[in-house]
Amino acid sequence: MATQTKTKKTAASQKAAKSEQTDFDKKILFVASEAVPFIKTGGLADVAGALPKALVDKGVDCRVILPLYMDIKQELRDNMKFVGNLYTNLSWRYQYCGLFTAVYEGVTYYFIDNEFYFKRSGLYGYYDDGERFAFFSKAVLECIKLMDGFTPDIIHANDWQSALIPVFLDVFFRGDDRYKYIKTVYTIHNIEFQGRYSGFMVGDVLGLPDWAREYVDYSGDVNYMKGGIERANKVTTVSQTYAGEILNAYYGYGMNNILVNRQYKLSGIINGIDVDANDPKTDKYAYTNYDLASFGDKVKNKLAFQEALGLPVGADIPMIGMVGRLTHQKGLDLLAPILTRILDMGVQLVILGTGDYKYEEMLRSVQSRYPGNLRALITFSGDLAGKIYCSSDMFLMPSKFEPCGLSQMIAMRYGALPIVRETGGLKDTVIPYDYTTGKGTGFTFYSYNAFDLLNAVERAVGMYRDYKEDWNKIVKNAMTQDFSWKNISDRYIDLYKQL
Ligand code: ADP
Repeated sequence: MATQTKTKKTAASQKAAKSEQTDFDKKILFVASEAVPFIKTGGLADVAGALPKALVDKGVDCRVILPLYMDIKQELRDNMKFVGNLYTNLSWRYQYCGLFTAVYEGVTYYFIDNEFYFKRSGLYGYYDDGERFAFFSKAVLECIKLMDGFTPDIIHANDWQSALIPVFLDVFFRGDDRYKYIKTVYTIHNIEFQGRYSGFMVGDVLGLPDWAREYVDYSGDVNYMKGGIERANKVTTVSQTYAGEILNAYYGYGMNNILVNRQYKLSGIINGIDVDANDPKTDKYAYTNYDLASFGDKVKNKLAFQEALGLPVGADIPMIGMVGRLTHQKGLDLLAPILTRILDMGVQLVILGTGDYKYEEMLRSVQSRYPGNLRALITFSGDLAGKIYCSSDMFLMPSKFEPCGLSQMIAMRYGALPIVRETGGLKDTVIPYDYTTGKGTGFTFYSYNAFDLLNAVERAVGMYRDYKEDWNKIVKNAMTQDFSWKNISDRYIDLYKQL
């Protein structure tokens, strides 16, 4: 029922947006290892949930395909229909591929079913992930045969989990007319995770012939991402700044050498956010909903959240939020040495995330010494994330590298001003506040240096406390930014048109 209502709503919004319909009539198959609302561990799921929807709203026949994980909720499974099944080779293996489909908010989703590979809890982190996602990539291509009347003109693969698609397509499928003219786009959401395994897998798992080994060979290992970069017609990443950064060794994690020679097909397109799902006016996790016009109500969230977390309750106590994986990427190494100095400013820092044990322990230990200032919520929870965005005055994201980053955009939409390092998508989405012009949406620092981070936090907290007029101006600037997929999806259409 809920799905039907949502489908109707999309049909209505499609009608309203009729003038924005595109003349682009090619079929896109968007391949991802996670997508909202079915399954999510990070930003890829947000993108795979929102970009296809934005394309469909413009009249593009874009469909999404995912693995059928055990953790997909039953209420979403209830709407799935069985399409058919077939078998595929994975070197000497002969594996079952079932195909299910469901329509959600007007978008057609497909799911690859294989209980041996996907009937497990969680998504990644198994000893045979390399085999699981090689299977997924092969099965996606194979299952096109079951998609009645839908032969994609373009397959859009994402991250290492589907990076082998352009490789398998060229090596195994081109002989069949159905696959002859399919073009491929490969998007890198995070270059650190490449799908790198022992070289024996080239023959034993991927089943690639010797002549194709060079597509995936990286210093004797097999590297799925390299394969995607080599064989895709277009390679993109999720911000313009990151597209430049990954050509350098510091950011490129070894792929810089490959990408430097493939710049002719590399570009950066910034991600958007789902502005319907991330809206303080309708957020179901908010204690009190608000928008720019009723911004005064935001503080009610802070007061209720302080109460719920057992923190001292006070409207004037600055609250800084942080939501994200607790890994070196997110700048935890910068935060650690100056954490107590931030807390000594009398602020409340609420951090939500899971990740490396050493960072979780560091946060727990500081929390025990600063119980009135720090809350480390070591869990994954959409509810708590929503409460942090609604309640915080500031949002911390001192990333070492950040391909795009969605959290800072969500934070701005909620009027929580971002404090970020100028890297990747953070640089492209947060405008440093300049009091001489009144322009800007947050606070930034450039060097990967803890004291520069501390200085940025001091500037933000100082302005929050002493310059309320400026503060409110930045809040207004931040909350009125357009981070919707509506415009950004046009850039993907332009890219697809080039093919
Ligand atoms: P990533 O590098 O993990 O993809 P992004 O900023 O691009 O980082 O996207 C992270 C997304 O996941 C955001 O929507 C953020 O709110 C959400 N998120 C991250 N960690 C958690 C958590 N522990 N609980 C709930 N949501 C989280």
